[in-house]
Amino acid sequence: DTPVLRKPEWIRVRAPSGEVFDETRKLVKEKNLVTVCEEAGCPNIGECWSKKHATFMIMGDTCTRACSFCNVKTGMPDALDADEPRRVAEATATMELEHVVITSVDRDDLADGGAQHFADVIGAIRAASPGTTIEILTPDFLRKAGAAEQVIDARPDVFNHNLETVPRLYLSIRPGARYYHSLRLLERVKERDPSQFTKSGLMVGLGETREEVMQVMDDMRSAGVDFLTIGQYLQPTRKHAAVERYVTPDEFKGYETIARAKGFLMVSASPLTRSSYHAGEDFQRLRAA
Ligand code: SF4
Ligand code: SF4
Repeated sequence: DTPVLRKPEWIRVRAPSGEVFDETRKLVKEKNLVTVCEEAGCPNIGECWSKKHATFMIMGDTCTRACSFCNVKTGMPDALDADEPRRVAEATATMELEHVVITSVDRDDLADGGAQHFADVIGAIRAASPGTTIEILTPDFLRKAGAAEQVIDARPDVFNHNLETVPRLYLSIRPGARYYHSLRLLERVKERDPSQFTKSGLMVGLGETREEVMQVMDDMRSAGVDFLTIGQYLQPTRKHAAVERYVTPDEFKGYETIARAKGFLMVSASPLTRSSYHAGEDFQRLRAA
């Protein structure tokens, strides 16, 4: 058993509270929606929900994969809920979101990996809130021929797929996935529709070296990835992968400077950065520039 490292003072989290936070929670419950904010036990929930920023998780709360860093439960998921696209679109409209982030569990059990459902959700949001920009954070659609194309053709504004960690650590951290397949997925988005922004992210503190992080940044840029997020990995429970070390705020700043020099259009690198953290604000700022 690896000893648990003490959390440094820069991993400080505000307790969730306030009127807008309560409103967001009420709506999520009323519409019977699942959020990754809750399922992943995200440390930013207090801040994000107080700004009406939530990330909806579609296709259920049970994943067919079992990544060692992730708190989402693993098992055989239920059948898809055909009414979910409507409810997600309704929540987006009710919350008057300028930018919505949609993610999902992996659905290796479905022939198309859930691609059609993703496309349906995007279509429903477009119809209900034409002014809202849509960011999706997708599974890797490994061994699902044509699935990624189906999602790309639904034309989200931002197509995000996280590489999560450096290739050397895939076997222990992301065992069901393949580094080059994920990288190639991002590249395929750009090839098929260059008007979509692509985005990816890494967790650090899992034992990767600085050189390996640089290499991943270069790989991402070669695949045409536009936006990058880097955050500290936090261990959800003792059963999950251990934190190897806490990367300091200065080291994160260093990563951010280098990433910008490598040509990423948008970079968020800080201990509490998550792929959907400040996604809307950053994207609106970029569009206004
Ligand atoms: Fe939810 Fe993302 Fe904010 Fe975390 S960072 S609370 S997952 S919106
Ligand atoms: Fe968690 Fe995604 Fe891995 Fe499923 S595929 S266990 S949701 S990180």
